[in-house]
Amino acid sequence: MADTKRIYAFGGGQTEGGKDMKFVLGGKGANLAEMANMGLPVPPGFTITCQTCMEYYNAEPPAFPEGLAEEISANVAVLEEKMGKKLGDDSDPLLVSVRSGAAFSMPGMMDTVLNLGLNEKSVQALIAKSGNERFAWDSYRRFIQMFSKVVLDADGDLFENAIVKMKQDRGVENDTELTADDMKELVADFKRLVAEHVPAEEFPQLAVDGAVVFPQDVSQQLHLAIEAVFRSWNNRRARDYRRMEKIDDDLGTAVNVQAMVFGNMGETSGTGVGFTRNAADGTREYYGDFLTNAQGEDVVAGIRKTRPISELPDVLPEAGKELYRVFEVLEQAYRDMCDIEFTIQEGKLWMLQTRIGKRTARAALKIAVDMVDEGLITREEAVMRINPAHLDQLMHPQFDTTATYDVLAKGLNASPGAAVGEVVFSADDAEAAAAEGRKVILLRWETNPDDLHGMVAAQGILTSHGGKTSHAAVIARGMGKPAVCGAEALKIDMKAKQATVSGKGVVLKEGDIISIDGTSGIVVLGEVALVQPDVSGDMDTILAWSDEFRTTGVRANADTPDDAALGRTFGAAGIGLCRTEHMFLGERKDIIQDFILGESAEVRQRALDKLLEVQTEDFLGIFSAMDGLPVTVRLLDPPLHEFLDSPRDLEVEIVRAECGGASAEQLAPRRKLLAQIDAMSEANPMLGLRGCRLGITYPELYALQVEAITRAACELKKQGKDPRPEIMVPLVSVKAELATLREEIETVIVRVSQECEVDIIIPVGTMIELPRAAVCADEIAEVADFFSFGTNDLTQTAFGFSRDDIESKFLPKYLERKVLPRNPFETIDDGVAKLVSMGCERGRSTNPKIKLGVCGEHGGDPESVHTFYGIGLDYVSCSPYRVPLARLAAAQAALAETAQGSDNR
Ligand code: ADP
Ligand code: MG
Ligand code: MG
Repeated sequence: MADTKRIYAFGGGQTEGGKDMKFVLGGKGANLAEMANMGLPVPPGFTITCQTCMEYYNAEPPAFPEGLAEEISANVAVLEEKMGKKLGDDSDPLLVSVRSGAAFSMPGMMDTVLNLGLNEKSVQALIAKSGNERFAWDSYRRFIQMFSKVVLDADGDLFENAIVKMKQDRGVENDTELTADDMKELVADFKRLVAEHVPAEEFPQLAVDGAVVFPQDVSQQLHLAIEAVFRSWNNRRARDYRRMEKIDDDLGTAVNVQAMVFGNMGETSGTGVGFTRNAADGTREYYGDFLTNAQGEDVVAGIRKTRPISELPDVLPEAGKELYRVFEVLEQAYRDMCDIEFTIQEGKLWMLQTRIGKRTARAALKIAVDMVDEGLITREEAVMRINPAHLDQLMHPQFDTTATYDVLAKGLNASPGAAVGEVVFSADDAEAAAAEGRKVILLRWETNPDDLHGMVAAQGILTSHGGKTSHAAVIARGMGKPAVCGAEALKIDMKAKQATVSGKGVVLKEGDIISIDGTSGIVVLGEVALVQPDVSGDMDTILAWSDEFRTTGVRANADTPDDAALGRTFGAAGIGLCRTEHMFLGERKDIIQDFILGESAEVRQRALDKLLEVQTEDFLGIFSAMDGLPVTVRLLDPPLHEFLDSPRDLEVEIVRAECGGASAEQLAPRRKLLAQIDAMSEANPMLGLRGCRLGITYPELYALQVEAITRAACELKKQGKDPRPEIMVPLVSVKAELATLREEIETVIVRVSQECEVDIIIPVGTMIELPRAAVCADEIAEVADFFSFGTNDLTQTAFGFSRDDIESKFLPKYLERKVLPRNPFETIDDGVAKLVSMGCERGRSTNPKIKLGVCGEHGGDPESVHTFYGIGLDYVSCSPYRVPLARLAAAQAALAETAQGSDNR
């Protein structure tokens, strides 16, 4: 370990890293090095590696590894040499920033300290050198403020409040109107706040007479700041963010120590953030905001009104022109839309950061398609660049255009999509409500990284403050959640958990239902009907390219003609799973109850006749909607008692009637029903009389369903249509089950098609959803035309997990303690995937023509689709809304294998 290089220099004519080193230097450090290599103006500095951060954590207690302090000193000396200034110098002091930066961008999650190196002596030197007293004191107060918050863990509000009070006392509106003396006074105030509020026992090295004295020793400042950045890797918001984004906890953050440039030196200085294209809709235009006479986070913090980057050339022509040139250079170099941070010091532009920019799904599609047109990237790359999970963002609901509603408030359309839910006022409340299965909209003045868990839990985010680059907006867009920001009419009273809406005389209380539309920025009291958007334009282009590249088929799971039609519009090549149980619910429940409990053969036959009639209608609808495409119909699967009255309700009904004076005689039929239902109850229905066991036990039930399927298909054929049903038997574990049922099924098909005088072939296959079936797939395949892996049940039975219970019971602990890497019901587990793989291999060994698919919810999970592609399944089937995503994921899996795509992260 000792020989490993821990520090890499950049800028000033000597750069050791580059953009491919993000796992060593973090994204920020790697890209600073890259920009320096490209000859762009980057203030020099050095990067301490991510691995060093993990070395720090691996010590017990966490500590700098041996030799690091010396390496830092050596690199500071090199930096001082490059800059011709010295840290803490009393004539020309070097100031630095100490910046976090991990391999994957975690915006605003970790900490940064600016203007480090100031103390009572160097601030005087800075005044003398710059001739700008206000600038020097402003920098010093900023340093104390950030250092105290980040390193000394002081409450940031202490300092903000002192500034607000100062502005009130002086009767001014903006920070920029405060004078040099005001800033000087703030420095004194801030130091006093540090002494009063930072506990001396936590920083014994800074304590004098029992109070913390703001450190004057610049190397002590530097070491403390570097350590604080290491520590920020593990603060709560950073950990939450990593969990959400599935970023490894062991990567660590790099620390960038960089010479300061100053945007707060007056009106020819400034700072800003930008994107090389519009990050919201993808338009090819420069996008972003800037402020003059400002530093660091002033732009994003929203303390002053920013100006759009299109106005920069009017204000500072030289720097503006240079920035636009840099934009073009970056796009050509990275071949993608870049996100940048810059500072202008007395008219000269300095680049402080760049990375591949985050964007909305809509923008991602447009940019990818445009860049193919521009010849910048290939179609394969375009397909690889779209995050399948982000397609979901576009598959999000929108307000129904025909709905009528009153607008309660208007804000900025910060993140697209619409949502409906109960208003909650804190992240914790959002989390708690979501855990109970309630849908909520999180309403905040403005969010900050501590609100992250609530944002994850909410359907949508609403803020009364902040713009399109505010925290809420950026994070919501990243998560693909609808957000309306800066709805200023909402006056929030956090304590009372309510908000008054100015001009409307409305008070929103916790639990009130509201609807928000992040595409238009509208807030509505009550529920607005939502509709799904269509798949056209750029999405259609990307999906059409995807279809060319993929080899895995995509079908939809659909039980109704409407869902089937929807799946077809979204590009499904058939239905992989058509469940029939819902066809037995609602008013039909009585019919099936008659069948299950009916005592005479006559009653039961009458029930079957009725069911045949309605089921035939159902299949006519679905087969017509999918004309020409395969429809895999699963015969009845769930435990029968699901179709019976609830014994608990029945008992209550009987007791009530008894109390109401009903006689034993009157109650006899209900009592008997209760006894019958009780007799059918099972200790573990998921492992009980269900699936093909129903077909073996009640052959007439499956016969009826097969007859309905065949009749519907024959009927349509007579009309000249092309129905393609496939019959699927669920929950098979031994070959004999399928063999027995197959014979009965085929007998019915032959009988019905002869009656109808239509020639029809209906393939018969089975679900593989029990470990025994996967293991004995070679035997089962001898009597199956196809397999469809039911990975939901296969996961349940492989693990012995009850899906309905574990998510609320122990799964969260398993994830937290990393016993499982993720929820196996969302992303296919390795072990379950092995069963699938074994099932495929063995199935093909005895029946090479067998068709293999997957119909669990995993079929709509991008990572699982990659796994299924690897296993060699013919198709995946998922919910209609996930069909586009599965088409894309299947293409990416195929492209990744031929290694034509680029880094997709
Ligand atoms: P984050 O990762 O949260 O964006 P950064 O490390 O990028 O944090 O720092 C935030 C801001 O601080 C930058 O956008 C820039 O405005 C300012 N900053 C950082 N380093 C310097 C520097 N060397 N000179 C001037 N400003 C800096
Ligand atoms: Mg930054
Ligand atoms: Mg099942």
